[in-house]
Parts: sequence; structure tokens; C-alpha cells
Amino acid sequence: MSIGENLKLVKARMEDVRGEKRTGAGLGHLIAVSKTRPVEDIELAIESGQRLFGENRVQEAMAKFPALKSQYKDLQLHLIGPLQSNKVKEAVAHFDVIQTIDRPKIAKVIAREMKEQNRDLTLFVQVNVGEEPQKGGVLPQDLEGLLALCRDEYGLDISGLMCIPPVDAEPSPYFVLLRRLAQSHGIELLSMGMSADFESALQFGADYVRVGSAIFGRREAPKNS
Ligand SMILES: *Cc1c(COP(=O)(O)O)cnc(C)c1O
Repeated sequence: MSIGENLKLVKARMEDVRGEKRTGAGLGHLIAVSKTRPVEDIELAIESGQRLFGENRVQEAMAKFPALKSQYKDLQLHLIGPLQSNKVKEAVAHFDVIQTIDRPKIAKVIAREMKEQNRDLTLFVQVNVGEEPQKGGVLPQDLEGLLALCRDEYGLDISGLMCIPPVDAEPSPYFVLLRRLAQSHGIELLSMGMSADFESALQFGADYVRVGSAIFGRREAPKNS
């Protein structure tokens, strides 16, 4: 199947969840995750009407998106991978949304760069909902402290929470947890759900689902990890 057909299918599946009124009140936006994909594939998605894209590496996004963004002014680029402080300058320059704030240091540097570059990004905190040692994200019990620091020390407005549940687990309890955390901290947006579980995420109120392989096909295993 083509990228255009895959996109149509994913959107139809999203629409089905909405139609059955099984959804929470989420906005249900689709982010096409284009990591590891060539620019030609991204262009095919754009031609099919897709405008929101997710990348997980700053360097890779910088190689692919500036030309596309100057051609298509309404593209919105989300950073969904781990961020190092030495990449924040480029991240703030090239992304519209950063979903992976997970520690004070990175929040501080983002705040500084947004001011310096006079850029107004939408910001999410990533929560390590499964409390997995190898995974990014703030632990649920440390979320409150990080949010307070972002707001009071760095003047950052955090719009949303993002999570990646443990790979082999049933994801719905983690979607419920993320929604509960957002509600209890007055945070509006939820980024949750991937190719395997976006329908479930929508049922629990996802505002953004991040879908890669169901649109672009299976990824090759990365060579350097
Ligand atoms: C790769 C990735 C996705 C998309 O994964 P698929 O299973 O291909 O849909 C979503 N979110 C994050 C954070 C990712 O790194």
C-alpha cells in the first residue's frame, strides 16, 4: 500500500473511534512520525494532506525539514525523542513543539533559547509512566516538582504531557495514568498512542497520536544501536 493509502486508512480508523463515541474529549490530531524516512516519503504524506510531523533526532530533522517548511508554511514539527542540552539551540530553531522535557536542566536551557531566539514553542513534559530505567521522561512522582520549576523558575508554559508505555504491556492503564496526571495538574493536552495502540489512546482522550510505521511502513532497525 502507498503512503497516501496508509494515511487514509489510519484516519478512517481514527474516525471510527470518534464515530463510536468511545473517545474521551481529546482533539485527536495525527502526528506522522517520519524518523528514518527520506524526504520523498514525507513529501508523499504532505501531498496527501498531512501537516503534523514527528521526528526523534534534532540532527536528522534539520537535514530534512527546513526546505519542506519553507515550501509548506503550515507544517508543524514535533520533537518526540530525547533532547540533549547541546542540541537545544537547534531544536528551538527548527521545531514547533518539544514533547520531551524531562528534567530541570533541559527546561532551563529551552527557556533561555526561546527568549534568545524570540521563538514561541508549544511544550510538553514526557512522563516515564512505566518507571522504566532505560526510558526518558520524568517519574510520575517527580512531575509536580518539575512542573512547578518550569512555571515558577523558568517562566515556561507547559501545555501537555507525553508518554511511551512499556513495549509489552497493555497500554490502557498507562493512558489512564497520563490523563489523570494531566487533570490533577491542570494540563490540557495529551500526546499518547502509536501505530499499535492509537485507537486505545484516542479512547482515553489523546489530543495527539504519534503514528509512524502504520503510515510509512516498517522501519529498518537502526544501524548504530
Ligand atoms: C517512533 C516513535 C513513534 C511511532 O512509532 P510507530 O510504532 O512506528 O507508530 C511514536 N512515538 C515516539 C516517541 C517514537 O519514537
